[in-house]
Amino acid sequence: MLAQLPPASPDPLWSLISAYRADPRPERMDLVVGMYRDESGTTPVPDAVRAAETRLAEAGASKAYRALSGNADFNAGMARLLLGDAPARLARHYTMQSVGGTGALRLLAELVACATPKATVWSSDPGYVNHRPLMTAPGLGFETYRLREAAQGLDMAAMLDDLAPAKPGDVVILHGCCHNPTGIDMRPEHWAEVSAFCARRGLIPLVDMAYQGFGDGMEADAAGLRRVVDDNPTVLVAASCSKNMGLYCERTGAAMVLGESPAALSRVAPLLERIARASYSMPPEHGAAVAAEILAAPEAWLREVEAMRRRVAHLRAALGAALRAEGASAEFAALERQKGMFSLLPLGPEEMRRLREDHAIYGTETGRINVAGLTAAQVGPLARALRQVAT
Ligand code: PMP
Repeated sequence: MLAQLPPASPDPLWSLISAYRADPRPERMDLVVGMYRDESGTTPVPDAVRAAETRLAEAGASKAYRALSGNADFNAGMARLLLGDAPARLARHYTMQSVGGTGALRLLAELVACATPKATVWSSDPGYVNHRPLMTAPGLGFETYRLREAAQGLDMAAMLDDLAPAKPGDVVILHGCCHNPTGIDMRPEHWAEVSAFCARRGLIPLVDMAYQGFGDGMEADAAGLRRVVDDNPTVLVAASCSKNMGLYCERTGAAMVLGESPAALSRVAPLLERIARASYSMPPEHGAAVAAEILAAPEAWLREVEAMRRRVAHLRAALGAALRAEGASAEFAALERQKGMFSLLPLGPEEMRRLREDHAIYGTETGRINVAGLTAAQVGPLARALRQVAT
């Protein structure tokens, strides 16, 4: 059997990370990995997480098997975080703990394939690299729509033009906030337009919420999702606690399905549980137990996320100012108004290679950099290097 295995090339992202780790130059910058880092260059464990872990350790709960749907307090807490306190929305959801945001996307893809195996999933181009493998794994079709910067922030006409051939029942993935990889911000008017478009065409929005709190703030970042939920009878949500709770390796997330009414959801829970059972059975408890503790009294945690958000916003402003001071081209100006951890540089693979080889600065081949991976001291050297490779 092993001889018949098809060859698979290593994940390009992880190859770059290995190259970074092997780079002896002290000034090297890792802007590849999608993780928040603080000024000391480490990915911190929020104090709120440490405090919750201490309480959980003291409580010393048994490690007996849990439910297929995971931690019920976590699921209820995530529903409130995503949907707000609005009873009309909270009456329409089923939420199930997942193995990170990735696991939520996969569960939802499998669920869609149970109902409409010929459906096509529409994702942005540029987009999150893992959407295609996750959505096509259960056999769904996959197409893309353009996501482009425009004077008003986002080229809505290009996006809706590309979505025009989508058929009723097709799924449209929208990043809840802080688009990966572009950082392009969807303003309330863009959300209203794309939400109404989906409702009119019978398309099913799938909101991928991996960075809530990193854009304009925890509540503001959920506004687009809530708009979509209010306008559309069926909505899917994949949420991640990796970034905003710093729970990356604990694999904590949630898959949510909203139906027109509670009755419309009656088949969802048993099906999602069956899908989970055939894959990993139960999701890991620890991260969800921590998150449930935090969500029960979130004030201290919210302050910590706000501090992370502000740090990234300051780095963007500083990078924008440094690029202007270097006389960089107008193409770089968008970096400042973009939101969240990522931006896509206006550079091709050759320029990204020169950044790597001549300046020890590692971004992806496609030009994505993790702004949240910078320290204040690295902003100047980065701006200088960008100016040099872009000319
Ligand atoms: N969706 C998007 C858009 C992401 O950027 C990520 C994380 N890189 C995920 C989902 C997956 O998150 P997790 O690590 O929680 O699986």
